[in-house]
Amino acid sequence: MTIKTSILLALALTGIAACSSDNDTTVTAPTDNSQSTAINDSLTKITADATGVSADGAMEVTLDGDDVSVLIQLVVADPDSGALITEIRDPDGTVIYSASLDPDTGEPGPVVSDYFDSPQGNNGAVSVFLPPTPELTLKAGTYRFTFLTENDAALARAEAFVRSSTGSIDLESFQANLNIWIAHPDAAFNDQAFEQTIQTTFKDSINTILAPHSLQIATVNVLKATEAEVTRFADINAEDDEQSAEACRAMQAATTDKLALNLVYARALTSNEGGGPAGFSPSPGIILDDQAGNGCFFVGQTAYVAEPEFGFTQELADQMMAGNILHEAGHFMSLQHPTEEAGDDFDQLLDTAQCDAATYDGRDDAVFGVPGELDGVVTDFECGIAGGSKNFLFYGGVPQFLPFEMSPDQARVLRRHPLFVKTP
Ligand SMILES: [Zn+2]
Repeated sequence: MTIKTSILLALALTGIAACSSDNDTTVTAPTDNSQSTAINDSLTKITADATGVSADGAMEVTLDGDDVSVLIQLVVADPDSGALITEIRDPDGTVIYSASLDPDTGEPGPVVSDYFDSPQGNNGAVSVFLPPTPELTLKAGTYRFTFLTENDAALARAEAFVRSSTGSIDLESFQANLNIWIAHPDAAFNDQAFEQTIQTTFKDSINTILAPHSLQIATVNVLKATEAEVTRFADINAEDDEQSAEACRAMQAATTDKLALNLVYARALTSNEGGGPAGFSPSPGIILDDQAGNGCFFVGQTAYVAEPEFGFTQELADQMMAGNILHEAGHFMSLQHPTEEAGDDFDQLLDTAQCDAATYDGRDDAVFGVPGELDGVVTDFECGIAGGSKNFLFYGGVPQFLPFEMSPDQARVLRRHPLFVKTP
């Protein structure tokens, strides 16, 4: 699975001057004109005044002692405009994340943070999830998220979803629902038998990874794209933000279960070079907003086709696809690859294995008899189990390392996400 974790943000530099400096020194009035709505027992949606937040260049969210997570969603009025979170301050005024734009390229510069390993930015909307690692415990008080948008574009919506817990969140059981929208022209992926495969094989395989952490997918809703939509979205270019955003909006228009993960199941994912990834997702994605283009993640059916003559059975192919779906769902809920392919970039979780290039690149895999190659890329076989190849968020993914596993810290992040609710 070569997977894009977030749509590349390329902010035109002309937009920067407009909103960076005046917010840093004087703390402007908190965004007071906000409305709170209870989504369920433990989830509150805060809708802020988008005009005020745009003018401030910052959104503030006040948490109390029971609050365990917050997902900020800033949707830009112009869906083509990029947005970047430039700073997050905790209630004590401590900067827990900062990122700037490279003045020459307009690309986000290095991130300074103990908790985030990449710039929090995207096109059309930007979202941030706290805490991205269990090492960060949220405090009561006001968090301030400073941002900039390309060409100083205004926000259409500024929202926050706050999860609270009065119990022991790490000991309780949680569940989420999954919508799957089939955009595939072949009858074999639109019939009752395939729906049964989704409801049993895929779902069971996903839940086998989640179950040790008291997490589960409870309900899978299978939806079908119309014939016209299949024509447009059977093959999706992972580098074409507009096409994926359109597919996402079309899918969300068809959903009835709104507090759920949204998966577009396409025939194939492509790229500008031709071959595409097995899946891709915004990270984190936007929830409960049918108009946002970043509310879905994607997998392509052709990524895992059984070849029994080579030992890649249908059962293994199904397990790979299930792992692929959960991998993208993990990105959608903010998780990152434990190790990127160069073996020099790692997530911030303390319990996921790191496959660093100095140790693993070129290493032979004695178990499977696969020789290593010192080439600047750490593969599944070079990393092996010690380097994290069994983790469901390993950047690659090969059937030899099935069944895939989730680390306790990854589960601690997921169970705090707004899409999970307490199992009744
Ligand atoms: Zn990935």
